[in-house]
Formats: sequence, C-alpha cells, structure tokens
Amino acid sequence: MLDPYEVSNQLLHHPLWENQTISITIKRLDMVHPLASGNKFYKLKYNLEAAKTEKKQCILTFGGAYSNHIYATAAACQAEGIRAIGIIRGEAHHPLNPTLHAASAMGMHLEYIDREKYREKKDPIFHQQLMEKLGDCYVLPEGGTNAFAIQGTAEILTENDEDFTHICTAIGTGGTFAGLAKSIKENQTLLGYSSLKGEFIHQEIKDLLENHNILPLGNARVIEDYHFGGYGKIKPELLDFVRWFYKEFNIPIEPIYTAKMIFGILDQLQKSEFPKGSKILILHTGGLQGLAGFNARYGTSLPL
Ligand SMILES: *Cc1c(COP(=O)(O)O)cnc(C)c1O
Repeated sequence: MLDPYEVSNQLLHHPLWENQTISITIKRLDMVHPLASGNKFYKLKYNLEAAKTEKKQCILTFGGAYSNHIYATAAACQAEGIRAIGIIRGEAHHPLNPTLHAASAMGMHLEYIDREKYREKKDPIFHQQLMEKLGDCYVLPEGGTNAFAIQGTAEILTENDEDFTHICTAIGTGGTFAGLAKSIKENQTLLGYSSLKGEFIHQEIKDLLENHNILPLGNARVIEDYHFGGYGKIKPELLDFVRWFYKEFNIPIEPIYTAKMIFGILDQLQKSEFPKGSKILILHTGGLQGLAGFNARYGTSLPL
C-alpha cells in the first residue's frame, strides 16, 4: 500500500481574519507523499489496491499534458511496481514538458490521442480498443474520480478536524468534494470552489453525490464565483495572489486550483460572509508539480 507521510494542520496568522475572530488553518496534503501528492494520493490509494486484487499488471488513465493526476498516477504506480499508461490529450511535443517528462521518467508509457478521439475517454468501446493495442489494464477515469477515489478522499478529515466549522476544497471533477461530503459532521459546512466556469457544476456535483449515495451530515455547498475565466485560465491578479500568499506564509500554491479557492475565501472574508468565531480549514490539495510546467509555458516565476 502507498505509505502516507504525516499531514500537518498549520494555523495561519493574519489580521484580515484574526480581526474578525476567525481562524484559518491549512491542511498540508501537499506533504502526504513526495511524488503522489495532495488529494491525488487519496484518490489513488484504493484504486491501486483494487488493481492488485484484480491481478491487473497495469493501470491506464487519461489526462492533459500538465495533469496532476497523470503525474501522481505515474508516481504511485512506480512506488507500487505496477505498469502505468497515460493516454494524453493532443499531440506529442518535444522536448516533453516537465509533467510528462517526469511521468515518463517514472516509467509511465505515454500514448497521445487527438482531441477529437480523446472525447471518447469514457466510452468502454474506446477502452477496449486501447487495451487491444496496449494490453489488459485497470482503467482509471480522467481526474481519477470513481467510487474507490471517494472512499480514499473520505479519509482526508480525521477526528482531529471535528472542531472546524468550515472545510474548504477546490473542485475539478468533484471526487475530493464528494469524499469530504461523506465525512463532514453535523456542525460542519463544506465549501467547494469550482475551478471550472459554469453553473453546470452544481448539477454535476449533485449527480455525483446521488450516484454514490452520499447524504452529507452537515452543509455542503459549491461556489462558482472564483474560476477566473475557466479551467486553466489565469489573470495577473491571481498570479499576484500566489506570490502574496507565498510571501506571507511561505507556502507555495498553484494557480489552477488552490489559489482560486484561497482567493475566494479571502474575498468572502472581506465581504463578512463567514460568521465571527468561524474556524476554517483549507485543504492544500497539492498540484505543485504543475508549477514548473506553468512557469515554462507562461514565462512566469511563481515560487515552487
Ligand atoms: C485534481 C486537483 C483538484 C481537484 O480534485 P477533484 O477531486 O477532481 O475535484 C484540486 N486541487 C488540486 C491541486 C488538484 O490536483
């Protein structure tokens, strides 16, 4: 089994919230494993177990060229001695970007699929075609969200976290949000900050919870106001925020998920949307591997 490292809760001091008698703590999931980091560690954990139980020699999954999920899958499979295949959206570009270079160096076989064909990523017939070519595999969806992933992310919160009034996470596919929704207590509110543009996310998360029979004990809410133009879209203000956060707290965050969420939380704080006395827990879901590729692509120098 993948061995987790100690995950610490770190209290953040700043007058912006302490003047409102609100506390903010950040859970450093980015430290849970040196390579298979963040929420992806939890999403992979039981999937790797299942692949072994099913005696599969290989895990096949899908992702974009900068995907944290691709990187984490490559790392976890290497740690567990399972073959990994990454079906990558779009054409190969050489030299490989830092994400794909690392995935390949960790032993993942990369297979590029054009954007049109890639849309069939959920189609079992397409999976069959891939396996005829590449061999029998345990198939993990893009982003890694399935029942085993939710079982894993339901373990992120522990009994030491029961005093927090608000639990905050970023949303991509919603697998992490779903696991948290399963594990929050009556007195807790779960806030999910969508990194994607559009109201569709509300229905998508509702369906995800229903399909997995999740009835949260507390409150669970999706916030769609802080996507900054959509998935992977960025604005100078957001990059400034990443730098500001690092300067204040010495904690690196990335602009695709965690920076958007934390920016949102601080904006809500400024609008007094959290009651006095709130104890907020922010999940640092990792994704820092993407920063090197981000900097290379956009010519930025975000702190790693
Ligand atoms: C994948 C990812 C998310 C989103 O997780 P989902 O379970 O897909 O919602 C959030 N933060 C980071 C850093 C990620 O890599």
